[in-house]
Amino acid sequence: MAQEKKVQRKKIKAAGTLGKFMADYYYELDNAAKSRGKKIAWCTSVGPAEILRAMGFLVYFPETHSAMLGSTRMATELIPKANAIGYSPDICSYLTADIGAHLEGVSPLSEIFKGIEGPPKPDILVYNTNQCKDVQDWFEWYGRTYNAPVIGVNTYRGVGKVTEDHLISISRQLQALIPPLEQVSGNKFNIDKLKETVRLSLECSELWKKVLDTASARPSPVTFFDGTTLMGAAVVGRGTQGAIDCYKTLLAEREQRVADKEGAVEGERFRLYWDGMPVWGRLSSHAGLFASLKANVLASTYCNSWIFSAMDPDDPFTGMARAYTELFIVRSDEYKEKYIKEMLDFFKVDGIIYHDAKTCPNNSNCRYGMPQRLEKATGLPGLMINGDLNDLRLLSDEQTKTNIEAFIEQLDER
Ligand code: SF4
Repeated sequence: MAQEKKVQRKKIKAAGTLGKFMADYYYELDNAAKSRGKKIAWCTSVGPAEILRAMGFLVYFPETHSAMLGSTRMATELIPKANAIGYSPDICSYLTADIGAHLEGVSPLSEIFKGIEGPPKPDILVYNTNQCKDVQDWFEWYGRTYNAPVIGVNTYRGVGKVTEDHLISISRQLQALIPPLEQVSGNKFNIDKLKETVRLSLECSELWKKVLDTASARPSPVTFFDGTTLMGAAVVGRGTQGAIDCYKTLLAEREQRVADKEGAVEGERFRLYWDGMPVWGRLSSHAGLFASLKANVLASTYCNSWIFSAMDPDDPFTGMARAYTELFIVRSDEYKEKYIKEMLDFFKVDGIIYHDAKTCPNNSNCRYGMPQRLEKATGLPGLMINGDLNDLRLLSDEQTKTNIEAFIEQLDER
């Protein structure tokens, strides 16, 4: 049996720059909410943030708040509060943890950022169901709670080839958001501002992609576990110059590490791909466990989901429609298999970890035979771990550890 020992995680120098970006972002939102200055739009993680920014809104992303509830391990105790008002324990634990936090009047923001009491009150909530329908139900609860309008885009699911019809439909839905946004913001829509925001969004996305792609180097200077927090600026800051500046700094550091052959995991022996959501409350222990086994989980579908190469400043609505519809989570299983195969090849991995997140079927790809089909096609073994993104009652640490150790041993024997 491989022996686990305590491992020091490598310090990321750019983390300070990213941390400051996140602090500035939350303080700006908090100030606006308190002074009733700029209007605030809540947006789903792959919602039309570019349109909202171009129209002068500050944009808040509740999923990031939920991920913080998970990583601070506050979520598990809050989920039952939402269950008690009728939101099932089986649905998205981002949703239930976030609503539970609101009901209890608690937030990790108040712990992390002095003076901030919690999320900013929305003037409008804008969703895109490209990731799931839970986000719509989630936003509608807040819409009722705050008496704020809820608008959104309803996306196709299980998309194979992205067709002209898909793009026309989504583009029209995006354009239909403009009149209610003008009404709430009090600002007239300006196409040049949107083009500029889309340009910034595309640049941020390209830099983030380059950061993630450095993981193809051997040894990899990146781990998936670090990526889940480093991606914060790409999630909340796309469409801003600040996010671009963060990733320029991070990319320079990563490229230097590649040049110096400095791996994120000391003595990297095994290279792994992660499919599905992270277990937010176990990021650090999972990172430590894999590192102690000299295995680097270095790439993931999850972190790659904030790459929007189809954004087009010259044709912003069509580009956004394409970027939001080409998103991995929206696609057919056939497409997903092809995509993962390409990633396995590009990152030169030895195996795949599939996280079957109990409350997120949308981002769990191991329930309908995909691991078996991929193993047959690539010869690379996969391991399924049962767990959840936020609800720590749904995982067994001991079982996860035993299964991961056995999997690494199996790779070793190969
Ligand atoms: S994709 Fe999963 S984790 Fe994200 S909001 Fe939807 S159900 Fe929740």
